Amino acid sequence: MNAHQPMPYTALSMYIDGQFIGQDARSGESVLNPADDTILGHLPHATKEDLDHALDAASRAFEQWRWTSPLERSRILRRVADLIRERADEIARDLTRDQGKPFAEARNEVYSAADHAEWHAEEGRRIYGRVVPPRSPSVRQTVIRQPVGVCVAFSPWNFPFNQTLRKISAALASGCTLIIKPAEDAPSAAVTLARLFHEAGLPPGCLNVVWGVPAEISDYLIRSPIVKKISFTGSTPVGKQLAALAGAHMKRVTMELGGHSPVLVFDDADIPLAAALLARLKGLNAGQVCMAPSRFYVHEAVRDEFTDAFTKAFSSQVLGDGLDAATTMGPLAHKRRVGAMEQLVADARNRGASIVTGGKTLSRPGNFFPPTVLLNTPDDARVMQEEPFGPVVPITRFRETDEVLARANALPYGLASFVFTRSLKTSHYVSTRLEAGMVSVNHFGIALPETPLGGVKDSGIGSEGGSETFDAYVTTKFISEETA
Ligand code: NAD
Repeated sequence: MNAHQPMPYTALSMYIDGQFIGQDARSGESVLNPADDTILGHLPHATKEDLDHALDAASRAFEQWRWTSPLERSRILRRVADLIRERADEIARDLTRDQGKPFAEARNEVYSAADHAEWHAEEGRRIYGRVVPPRSPSVRQTVIRQPVGVCVAFSPWNFPFNQTLRKISAALASGCTLIIKPAEDAPSAAVTLARLFHEAGLPPGCLNVVWGVPAEISDYLIRSPIVKKISFTGSTPVGKQLAALAGAHMKRVTMELGGHSPVLVFDDADIPLAAALLARLKGLNAGQVCMAPSRFYVHEAVRDEFTDAFTKAFSSQVLGDGLDAATTMGPLAHKRRVGAMEQLVADARNRGASIVTGGKTLSRPGNFFPPTVLLNTPDDARVMQEEPFGPVVPITRFRETDEVLARANALPYGLASFVFTRSLKTSHYVSTRLEAGMVSVNHFGIALPETPLGGVKDSGIGSEGGSETFDAYVTTKFISEETA
């Protein structure tokens, strides 16, 4: 038990203009271990002067970085990827301590982040323009793509290493500079990333990490005329507020927001496969994943078989401190998620759902909520309408394909979706009609560096990953030259 525990938790700081800045006289906040409520460290909050310093540093750095060759930018990102892999265990240990996920999951997140950095390093060398054939032989027409400038990003607490690195990689590889405010709940990831970029030779000011009261920081930075682009991953209500503010100042946005992924299990599906895969996916990060399967529509002919197999697999999770080798599901990242689970379960029960397993907060220190399965959950129950973002699974039945498509598409969300069927015809029909940014059929195949991740409707704007990843970080310039 806790073989990894003796290593001290990372020293927390901001990173501005190439300097690591501690608390000194600043205000700040304590960072808690969600597995046992102990204090891990103290996080300094940026003052207005710190934010101005970061804006100025990012602006000065941009004038150099934008002209730095893509090859050199690529080298730095690849060096960071190497350093991440070298220190993966150390990074993952801190990730488990402040975020809560099991150590094995934290390691996967760290290795996957290294892949993202490497892929952006390579793809950043291919931000091509084009030559447009002119109407006159003496004219040359070119389209070039240039970095947009200083960017501001807000990364979330559920994948604090991976998501923070994705935003940093996209900005830096495209020649932009960045101020990032990661989530205060799980800060070790971003502090470590700042150290790795520093060590890899990133010039001062290209990357700046600040902390504070989220609404105050975002309001100040988004309004600044220095900032040209905003990237946010988090909840839909906050994303809408930030997008509105960005719109008022005519700034580009990438918004990766909430989802409520429908899962369609047809009567010809491989039920044992579907049940085992979905139980594993839903257990990841205790369900705190924007793409987690979260509304289960199961054909009435296989509903009981599926529910039994799924419940058996999902309820076999071992809950505990993520540093304990036996743990397969950690705590929720903070107390407010536990309260949210309790409310969703109570509402579903009041509307007639039955609890097949789980349903009650565990009486132990930390933010533990058990794997919970709800059956016969009506479509108007809150858990069918609102993203649960936790280990609660509502299962309901359907009869017809068009009926289930209409129910799946009825919500304003449109991030991920899952389909299980052996029929190619059903797969094609459903995957082309689901209102979602991503569809996974008979497996889980999303969130790779080389494929676009993003939502439609209230789930967001733009994509991270894939060749689309740089679209919001570059401007398009048309140059027409009379050469005669
Ligand atoms: P929340 O809405 O309070 O906060 C979500 C995130 O936004 C947090 O990281 C928070 O620090 C940040 N934030 C909040 N207000 C902000 C502001 N004005 N400016 C800048 N950043 C701001 O929700 P929560 O309780 O922390 O998390 C639960 C919800 O968050 C879930 O329902 C889920 O939708 C969403 N979430 C989504 C993702 C994702 O990957 N899309 C990740 C984490 C959280």
